Amino acid sequence: MEFTNEELINFLKKNDIRPSNIRLKVLKYLLENRIHPSAEDIYNGVIDEIPTLSRTSVYNTINLFKEKGIVSELYLDDKEVRYDINTKLHGHFKCEECGRVYDFPVTSILHSGLEGFVIKKKEINYYGVCINCQ
Ligand SMILES: [Zn+2]
Ligand SMILES: [Zn+2]
Repeated sequence: MEFTNEELINFLKKNDIRPSNIRLKVLKYLLENRIHPSAEDIYNGVIDEIPTLSRTSVYNTINLFKEKGIVSELYLDDKEVRYDINTKLHGHFKCEECGRVYDFPVTSILHSGLEGFVIKKKEINYYGVCINCQ
């Protein structure tokens, strides 16, 4: 799926983020590459379009997106943090063979014993071998 510049600008504005070239390119990369990339993946994906790009500006952009709630962080027993533009509750399946992370829909989670607790983050992570690697 491809996004136009106008769609990207509107997406940022809607989330109270002032559009800049780097922000637009990082957003475009995240929306068009639903692979749960690391910061390094994002840097490598955008560097061709912005040759002057620094890793610091990629990190700053991701942190801003995180603050505004348009990306979430994933820790899937990797050394690297991965990022996910889809912040609606969903599960992750990580294949231990190919390393790919699959999204799957989650309709509801039943839990009890946390009445009155403030829940800030929910993660549903599965690990195993994906159908392509069997
Ligand atoms: Zn696999
Ligand atoms: Zn995901």
